Amino acid sequence: MEWNFDFDICAVAMMAVLVLYFLRKHDVPLRRNRIFFACVVSSISVALLDIVASVMSSYHDRFPVWSLYLINMLYYLAKALSPVIFYHYCHALTNKLDKFASIRIITSTIPLAATFVVVLSAPMNHYLFSIGETGFIYGPGRWVLFAEMMIYFALSCGHILMYRKVLKRVSIYSVMLYLLFAFAGHVAQIYFKYSQMSSFGVSIGLMILFISFQNPNYFIDKKTTLFSAEGFIEYYKEQLFLGRKVSVVTLSINEYKSILNLRGAEFIGNILEQFSVFLRVNFKRGTFFYFHNGRIFVIGWDDENLDEAFRLINKRCAEGFSNRWGETHFTMSYIVVPADIGVSNIDELNNLLLVADRDRMNNDGVLIVGQEQLESSRHEYEIERALKRAIMGEGLEVYYQPIYSTEKKKIVSAEALVRIHDDKLGVIYPDDFIWRAERDGSIVKLGEMVFEETCRFISENDLDALGLDYIEINLSPIQCVREKLANEFIEIVNRYGVRPGQINLEITESSTSDYSMVRENMDKLREAGMSLSLDDYGTGYSNLINVLNLPLQIIKIDKSILWAYFREGNEILLQVIKTFRYRDFKIVVEGVEDEKMVRELEELGVEYQQGYYFSKPVPKDKFLTFLKGFKA
Ligand code: C2E
Ligand code: MG
Ligand code: MG
Repeated sequence: MEWNFDFDICAVAMMAVLVLYFLRKHDVPLRRNRIFFACVVSSISVALLDIVASVMSSYHDRFPVWSLYLINMLYYLAKALSPVIFYHYCHALTNKLDKFASIRIITSTIPLAATFVVVLSAPMNHYLFSIGETGFIYGPGRWVLFAEMMIYFALSCGHILMYRKVLKRVSIYSVMLYLLFAFAGHVAQIYFKYSQMSSFGVSIGLMILFISFQNPNYFIDKKTTLFSAEGFIEYYKEQLFLGRKVSVVTLSINEYKSILNLRGAEFIGNILEQFSVFLRVNFKRGTFFYFHNGRIFVIGWDDENLDEAFRLINKRCAEGFSNRWGETHFTMSYIVVPADIGVSNIDELNNLLLVADRDRMNNDGVLIVGQEQLESSRHEYEIERALKRAIMGEGLEVYYQPIYSTEKKKIVSAEALVRIHDDKLGVIYPDDFIWRAERDGSIVKLGEMVFEETCRFISENDLDALGLDYIEINLSPIQCVREKLANEFIEIVNRYGVRPGQINLEITESSTSDYSMVRENMDKLREAGMSLSLDDYGTGYSNLINVLNLPLQIIKIDKSILWAYFREGNEILLQVIKTFRYRDFKIVVEGVEDEKMVRELEELGVEYQQGYYFSKPVPKDKFLTFLKGFKA
């Protein structure tokens, strides 16, 4: 009988390309990459063994019988192994703790073991095949291999579907296509008994996986040709999942932003590429990942002499890099996260690096992260979680701090100041979370919640009877540039039946704000009857002209200016008071902590005072009690 193995030859050719690719290209050391390579190797072995067995069977009279048995048994063993490897590959794709881990061990071994028994016993019982006068003869047990394959395909398919939520859509589709083509190849082979099409089906399936997401370029960062951040994240998660500890070293170009601003993206892109080549050539042991803003992550430097590595890199950077647009020099900073420090997830690593970045400022370029930084990053992580919970409506509270009128000698208003209550951390202060909320945009929601809560407070308490003219509420610059801000606030005020005049909004200067939008909002709010203050006057104003053009009534002078006057005799306070009084603004001075300050501010003609001398910010009930008991 003539066997047709044309399809096998095509399959071998296709898979040989994949093997070459994998051998030539360095890839992120992920489990799924290794197992994929094993899939390719096992499939190419099946195809090659198939070709050899077919040739030998075609000329069976020239070979001893035992050798025909041997080659066919090898072929069947490899063929039985192949779908099992693919099943493991599917597991590596998800990297999730398997609820059925023990079942999986059984499922992944029993059908394979049974098939091995059938294959190995073929020379004795001729159940799977036999070698007769005409050469290779199929036995009645041919279905066993097909059934085994079907079991593993079904398990693979089930696993992928079970974990579809953690997989990218491209992975799901590609795996399904692989299974489809492999299945079709096997069915075709059964149908056309003497044409070897199963390996061809498998190789098309592998090609699909390779093209869609399994090729080594998948995790390559285009700019630097190092691996990408995504590759790092996948690697790091996998290592933690496997219970391994990883050390990470980060390399950061200190002047990245200024070079980018000055010379442009193309220039720095090219420099980064050169720098990356330098790293790859000189440090064979490390695997490098490019993040962004000139930061590179290195893994695999556990045995590297780090001091020597840093020295070498610093030397190279000092020599400078040049391209057709010019030349540049830069300096590097390094953060070392030792493996045994016990980082437990990728978010924690991120927070840890943020903390380390801040600590690095006072360092000579190398920071080895210790337990202290890990603790503080965990603390910050908790704050972030508390903030998220607060945004969901859990734990947000508004405190009130009284504002004293020098003229009327009584409390005439108050400032609403937000706090978060957390079971673990206790009271969290705004300095710890406002900037985070601004960074991720949740300040919009948070600000609205504070505004609404304050309106509720006003609607539930008769401000006139309490002697309060209005409550001051802080606004973040992020809120001020939102087109909908004024309308939303006016709607809330109306909903609670609050007189707009009972609200004063505090704004601060921002160097990036779009002042036409801010102005539009402030005009609307002003027209509706709310008043406006400029908060924190004296803390770095670069946009003062824009800010002072807004319809403001009150200027709040920052405590630092007050304290500078009382502690160092710095006279800026006097000048500021003079200037703003001359321009008819009302003035609030913050940070009044003792009687001496109260007296002197009174003499200077400051209308309003706010500070711990009168009261710290307190919850609303305490605030009401305070008002009742207050005596000038
Ligand atoms: P701010 O608006 O300048 O508020 C005054 C801050 O100074 C408050 O800090 C207050 O507790 C503190 N303070 C007042 N008097 C004294 C004093 O005599 N001595 C000392 N040492 N401190 C005094 P707090 O409550 O921690 O708020 C910090 C900042 O957080 C606020 O500064 C404000 O910019 C921001 N913030 C607070 N609540 C909100 C809010 O609801 N939204 C927004 N966007 N920011 C808020
Ligand atoms: Mg304020
Ligand atoms: Mg202030």
